Amino acid sequence: MKTKKNFFTLILPALILSGLAILGCSKTADVSTPDAVSSELKDPILLTGNFEQSPTGSVINCIDAFPYEELSAEEVEALLYMREEELLAKDVYTLAYALYPIPIFNNISKSETQHSTMVKYLIDKYELTDPGENHQPGVLINKELQVASNELTDLADNSLIDGLTAGATIEDRDIFDLQNLLENVVDNQDITWVFENLERGSRNHLRAFYRNLVFRGADYTPQYISQEYFDEIINSEHEPGFIGCGGLSTQ
Ligand code: ZN
Ligand code: ZN
Repeated sequence: MKTKKNFFTLILPALILSGLAILGCSKTADVSTPDAVSSELKDPILLTGNFEQSPTGSVINCIDAFPYEELSAEEVEALLYMREEELLAKDVYTLAYALYPIPIFNNISKSETQHSTMVKYLIDKYELTDPGENHQPGVLINKELQVASNELTDLADNSLIDGLTAGATIEDRDIFDLQNLLENVVDNQDITWVFENLERGSRNHLRAFYRNLVFRGADYTPQYISQEYFDEIINSEHEPGFIGCGGLSTQ
């Protein structure tokens, strides 16, 4: 239901506005020309990259339903890091949307807010200090993420293509970090469930940014994940962005 509501309240007006701005008085959108608006209307992945709306209630219920398991020091680090990495993504996309008002930035920035909130629920469950409390856009506690945030913000500031490249870079890095953490650090069931949801969302976001880049005559080469895994992602279908705790991801 929420998807429908978002489409009509958020995406469609944005499309109409950007369509008017780009197409001017033309009444017919020629789909054979490389025009962003006409194709975005026909291609839901170009349009958003985000169809998942993880219902807050189910997320909290799921996190509560998983057992409380002792956290390793590395798991604590992983939670604090991912909370801020998702905020970094949200901040860059929010900025990019202000500069280049195409739906992908708006929709994916909302998805990142949800991602970050999912990690916050874990932080709350384990009574850790939330690095995202009183978060100011572009300001991060983790120094490494602060450097990345500055670089990606500068990149996004240049042009629409650079904004989309910043998006692909963020998702590339996000997937790499989540994979590494899932393989080497995390064993708690609740963290595994959240991180798997985040990674699925990130793969969808990467598909969306990449498709937008290619559509505009640009390209992207992975900087974090392998070329092989990157190819596998961009050549596969959009995935359900959110799978509840009764879903396959927790088995
Ligand atoms: Zn994310
Ligand atoms: Zn993302």
